[in-house]
Amino acid sequence: SERTPVMRHFKKSSKLNNVLYDVRGPVVDEAARMESEGMRILKLNIGNPAPFGFRAPDEVVHDMRQQLPDGEGYSDSRGLFSARKAIMQYCQIRNLPNVTMEDIYTGNGVSELINLCMQAILDNGDEILIPSPDYPLWTACATLAGGTPVHYICDEQAEWNPDLDDIRSKISPRTKAIVLINPNNPTGALYPREVLAEIVEIAREHQLMILSDEIYDRLIMDGFEHTSIASMAPDLFCITFSGLSKSHMIAGYRIGWMVLSGNKRCAKDLIEGIHMLANMRLCSNVPAQAIVQTALGGYQSVQRYIVPGGRVHDQRDLVYEALNQIPGISAVKPKAAFYIFPKIDVKRFNITDDEQFALDLLHEKHILIVPGKGFNWHKPDHFRVVYLPRRRVLTECMEDLADFMETYRQA
Ligand code: PLP
Repeated sequence: SERTPVMRHFKKSSKLNNVLYDVRGPVVDEAARMESEGMRILKLNIGNPAPFGFRAPDEVVHDMRQQLPDGEGYSDSRGLFSARKAIMQYCQIRNLPNVTMEDIYTGNGVSELINLCMQAILDNGDEILIPSPDYPLWTACATLAGGTPVHYICDEQAEWNPDLDDIRSKISPRTKAIVLINPNNPTGALYPREVLAEIVEIAREHQLMILSDEIYDRLIMDGFEHTSIASMAPDLFCITFSGLSKSHMIAGYRIGWMVLSGNKRCAKDLIEGIHMLANMRLCSNVPAQAIVQTALGGYQSVQRYIVPGGRVHDQRDLVYEALNQIPGISAVKPKAAFYIFPKIDVKRFNITDDEQFALDLLHEKHILIVPGKGFNWHKPDHFRVVYLPRRRVLTECMEDLADFMETYRQA
């Protein structure tokens, strides 16, 4: 006899139940829907320089074109020798201690390596300290790996530096690692040496490993200098992440790296795990590895963007000043990267849900921002603006925002 089988429904795995990644989330989906209806949306939601007219240095593109025929095979799972040599020199300039060629891994962006490390490090229920606000991939990957992200507060009153007392209060016997994002996305903060020294001290006392995401380490303004925390912790096991997506405006090429440093003896077993996962994905995109040497050793076109008169620098100044002129909005001046994380006076605007705020702004002004919630910020009082568009566009956008806020939910 013939029976129509009952349709089987496929659900996402329960591993994904608590995973949140809103930089490309519901507000972004709504923007895409509006675009499909023919509306023009100004996308200030993602740190992708190319669509805003930032170009890779010519020599990098030339180099990739030249080398493409040689990049057909898999490379060593850690990466090409030439790429790792260049990264090695980069580590020496930054004083990363105890690094050999074996300690350097290239990845398809830092993103792949964050995921790989979370899988290698965390057992179910292991705790990992992650900043709030954060670049949400860290929290998402820690959760996916079965770990428990524990958020420590970065303090807006203190230029968005990590709140050391909050870090101390959140350490438990299950805490394995502390994550730093320095320079920070979404706040644009750059951590001073004194703060880094205190974090090292805390990590030392509680035997934590340090994971430092430094992908914006070459986008620093106003004469400030970046310090790699690993350079201050030769006795601890550290992993430092960086790459070319932002410094060379080639986010689409997918090339980043991580460097193991300091006390590797205490992490011998873990390093075996990291290496196995690196082997399992065979290698990272080889044509993109092939340009690392030229990119790191060559013309640093990013320099001209971050000095006065340069696009990133001047766009930052414009957005910072314009935001602070809007009644009910205030923002700390970013020192690095290309993000700003303004505060909204929620009482004045009667805001209880920042996602709704983002949707309202999108619907009324066709401007796409990511609500603070998307960065694991647990109050509805912040949002992130990417200041990559040109000044003309940003000026108009800030006027629209001011206009929107003037009437938004005010009695
Ligand atoms: N880490 C931070 C702090 C970022 O902001 C980003 C991208 O926005 C990444 C990592 C991912 O970069 P990649 O392109 O190297 O995967």
